[in-house]
Amino acid sequence: MTRIALINPNWNFDGSIYFGCRSPHLPLELGISEHYLKAAGHKTLLLDAHMFDLSLAEIEVELRAFQPDLIVLTTAPTYLFWRCAPPELRVPQELAIAVRDLAPTLIAVGPHGSTTPRTTLRKLGADIVVMGECEQSLLRLANGERDFAGLCFADGSSVRVNGGPQAVSFTDQPPLQWPYEMIRRHDHHHHRFEAEPKGPGAEVEASRGCPYHCTFCAKDNFRNAYRRRPAAIILEEIDDLRAQGIEYLYFIDEIFLPNPELLQGLTTRGLKFGVQTRIDLWKPEMLKLLGRAGCVSIEAGIESLTVEGRAALAKNCKMSTDQLADRLVEARRHVPFVQANLIEVPEDDDPVVQRWRRRMQDAGVWANDPVPLYPYPGSPDYRKLWGEPDDFAWERAHQHYLALFDQFSDVQDSRPVPLRELELEVAP
Ligand code: SF4
Repeated sequence: MTRIALINPNWNFDGSIYFGCRSPHLPLELGISEHYLKAAGHKTLLLDAHMFDLSLAEIEVELRAFQPDLIVLTTAPTYLFWRCAPPELRVPQELAIAVRDLAPTLIAVGPHGSTTPRTTLRKLGADIVVMGECEQSLLRLANGERDFAGLCFADGSSVRVNGGPQAVSFTDQPPLQWPYEMIRRHDHHHHRFEAEPKGPGAEVEASRGCPYHCTFCAKDNFRNAYRRRPAAIILEEIDDLRAQGIEYLYFIDEIFLPNPELLQGLTTRGLKFGVQTRIDLWKPEMLKLLGRAGCVSIEAGIESLTVEGRAALAKNCKMSTDQLADRLVEARRHVPFVQANLIEVPEDDDPVVQRWRRRMQDAGVWANDPVPLYPYPGSPDYRKLWGEPDDFAWERAHQHYLALFDQFSDVQDSRPVPLRELELEVAP
């Protein structure tokens, strides 16, 4: 039996370009891992320092009491944000320093190590970095294995990278159960705008991965191939959350595809929920069912308003811009909040974009002022610019982003800070 502490850091995004939501969400990668570790007879401690607002000193007290053999920390706040993680490792670095001596082995999981394992190992001073989806690798590490594909670790004076990022099967993942106190504290309703929260919210993962390969999307090293859990299992997980009092859930799926069985099941649960998806994959009758099932928030990636722009982003979209607009408006007939995501691309003229935004707004659909692209290491866009990510990948992407855009999107409040100012300095 191994004693494993799983820690979600207490995130702070000051000065960051981080595009994701800053509120606490369920740390799904740690919750799922904990489920498998417990089932195998290991002793676990899941510390969600973000949800419980724990200081480093409070984390230390918990760890001293638990006396872990392995400490696992994640470098992005929940699976929902692995594709748009904060580039800087500042918060995980501070945590790693604080807990370094409290267990023989420190393990990092997350998007950074999945893409740039050597750099992540060095910046965090970790013993092992797990590449890709982490659940099975953490179980194997707890079982005492140390040399298998999907790990990066120091080997004498050199660093070994074994194989590449790994994926789990996911489709056999049983219903997750969360501690009551964690759900009680989860007062955030992710991407919900039509009403104020009355009860707790939660996040659920119905499917993982996406069959598309948009050039800006940094999913290839984790959460890549599309997999779906059986509807009955997802509904069982949702029923447990309902029994804990939630009134809203957010499906963290990269792409929430039409799933009549799941949607039919949701129609009888009386819950509200939000999704991110591609509107071109939803027919009008399925949008109607989506609304009936309780969906109150859709975030749909349109990205560009020209065929050329969408082709340059490899959207592989079969619809025209007018058809996309009609489908968004159709969605809005059934769902109270519909957002069309746009990206700043050279193919789109700003006046045309602003006119389209106004037209959509008049029809009740919110479209953002186009956001500039951040070439995340691991995305096709990064590879197009600089090839495979190396040890300087995050710094290079960050410098490029800061230099390219004077104006920042309306989702960022102040000019972000260079990576070297955000992170703690470590020896090369
Ligand atoms: S549709 Fe494109 S952006 Fe969305 S998850 Fe799939 S590859 Fe990524």
